[in-house]
Amino acid sequence: PLRSATIAAWMAEAGAAVRAHRDQLTQLDAAIGDGDHGTNLVRGFDAVEQALAGRGEDAPGRVLITCGKTLVATVGGASGPLWGSAFRRAGRSLDDTAEIDGAQLAAALDAALAAIQELGAAEVGDKTIVDALAPAVVALRTALGAGEPLVLALEAAAAAAEEGARATVPLQARKGRASYLGERSIGHQDPGATSTALIMRALVRAVS
Ligand code: ADP
Ligand code: MG
Ligand code: MG
Repeated sequence: PLRSATIAAWMAEAGAAVRAHRDQLTQLDAAIGDGDHGTNLVRGFDAVEQALAGRGEDAPGRVLITCGKTLVATVGGASGPLWGSAFRRAGRSLDDTAEIDGAQLAAALDAALAAIQELGAAEVGDKTIVDALAPAVVALRTALGAGEPLVLALEAAAAAAEEGARATVPLQARKGRASYLGERSIGHQDPGATSTALIMRALVRAVS
């Protein structure tokens, strides 16, 4: 079962990953957006780590809600409100449970995806965060349903997110800033789908 320390470790791993990939994310965003995705996420996850530092033991759901609020408050771009609502909705779905199991984690990620799609109205294939997160959620459920242990199920989810991010290259963007480019958005990997894969990979590290 996962406790709030696992959520804090997830955020620390996600922060480390976006810092390590900041320039890559920014370059991807420079090609089809405004070149701030790396700096947006580094600012956001730095603030999340500060918000979680020195907090006492709290329910995992409460921790996720704090992360979401912090991202909304600190990330200027589209990704801030999207991930902010995602983590808040995931946190609320967990209620005040102190220990969460794989099924609850899968439900929380479902809730996160639903929040992103309600706010941003993107479907799979629109070249956004959804292209990485939706297949990850499906892979997680499939693996858990097949009786895989949680770490392996999360590994499958991260691999699906990475594959989903790579699959955005030939797509034309239909949501967000990149959609303004029309056909010129084709041939570039979506920055938000790319960082989503990093965030899912960070979850594997936090649980391992
Ligand atoms: P901004 O575009 O405001 O500068 P960021 O650069 O931080 O924000 O984030 C851009 C990423 O946000 C895109 O690469 C895309 O993946 C994601 N995104 C944009 N609009 C949407 C949407 N409606 N639904 C899901 N993801 C979106
Ligand atoms: Mg941007
Ligand atoms: Mg911007």
